[in-house]
Amino acid sequence: MNASTSKRITLIGAGLAGALLATLLARRGWVVDVYEKRGDPRLKGYQGGRSINLALAERGRHALRLAGADEAVMAQAVMMRGRMVHFLDGRCDLQRYGRDDSEVIWSVHRGELNLILLQIAQEAGANLHFHRGLAEVDFDARIARFADDRDGSLHEAAFDSLVGADGAGSALRAAMSRHADLGERTEFLGHSYKELEIPPTPDGGFSIEPNALHIWPRGRYMCIALPNDERTFTVTLFLPNEGEPSFASVRDGAQARALFERDFADALPLIPNLEQDFERNPAGLLATLYLDRWYLDERAVLLGDAAHAMVPFHGQGMNCAFEDCVALAQHLERGDDRAAAFAAFQAQRLPNARAIQAMALENYLEMRDRVDDDDYLLQRALERE
Ligand code: FAD
Repeated sequence: MNASTSKRITLIGAGLAGALLATLLARRGWVVDVYEKRGDPRLKGYQGGRSINLALAERGRHALRLAGADEAVMAQAVMMRGRMVHFLDGRCDLQRYGRDDSEVIWSVHRGELNLILLQIAQEAGANLHFHRGLAEVDFDARIARFADDRDGSLHEAAFDSLVGADGAGSALRAAMSRHADLGERTEFLGHSYKELEIPPTPDGGFSIEPNALHIWPRGRYMCIALPNDERTFTVTLFLPNEGEPSFASVRDGAQARALFERDFADALPLIPNLEQDFERNPAGLLATLYLDRWYLDERAVLLGDAAHAMVPFHGQGMNCAFEDCVALAQHLERGDDRAAAFAAFQAQRLPNARAIQAMALENYLEMRDRVDDDDYLLQRALERE
């Protein structure tokens, strides 16, 4: 392919991975076009309302530094030194992640992070096209078709190679699957989640310890809470889909209150809009996506959640997606053979993604069932000696 000797590339999705990869490539002189199905979130800015946050770890920060985004992101991040475990009897215990504040993770606001990454991608020279949802791909003619979500109009763009950063429900992955067997399988966890909010205190402060990831472990289920820089916490309730309690048995705000009165009593007074939050916010499914193949010769490659969506219990999905971006940019810079670059990228990253996916599943057991276990606490205490 002649075109692979040029430095043109087309990204699908301007979420976290798409915006970061656009920056890394544009900064190296690539002509980058990014197609995003939603509108430009920068036009309205962050409007307040519901905050959803993510744990950012060193793996992700390394990628942000390479893209020149770390400083802007860290300006609104909140440090989390460890897990604050909330026992059923109301006691709390802070389990540090490391020996000191050099070994911590950070809570970042998903919306703000996306705004920052889009802005630096544009400043780096990437061409961002909003309201362009990938609808279909003609891989033979190398034409991608996009739908405008406002009026349903269709738009075409020629491409050399497509990069799928379009998330767990990737339209590019679906289009690639029609050409090659990607060995795709999705394993659902049988548990789902719902987000609730702890607002600031009346004088504008944090209601509970800000520099911690709070966990209420309860055996088969749990709650967690991560701080936001606007002094709120985003609480995530994880429950099985079946059994007692579950999202099948806890269906409305009153039943959610009863669950909290019984199992999360110290959290209940912190969430004044529990009933409304529970009834308004949808329950999100949790699943792990496995693919045996992430690319279609030199014409398409997948990364981030499009390639390896995982359950969120290790807080590593975004961090892993950011590492993918660094690796793919490096492989693309090594030579003109894009199929070889995509193959090398997959060989490097697929085993890592599988390992993190397995750790994320294991960590659900640890978080919901082991962090309040006496033997575990003793072991952690000895480690800290
Ligand atoms: P996304 O962020 O999903 O971005 C995909 C983008 O593609 C979106 O902008 C979307 O609009 C766009 N798009 C979709 N379809 C199309 C289309 N057809 N055409 C064009 N554009 C399209 N990770 C962490 O590292 N730490 C955490 O603490 C953490 N917590 C999490 C908590 C929960 C409850 C969940 C569900 C996930 C969590 N994750 C966490 C995982 C993290 O959210 C994902 O791994 C990360 O968002 C993946 O980034 P991405 O860019 O691959 O996909």
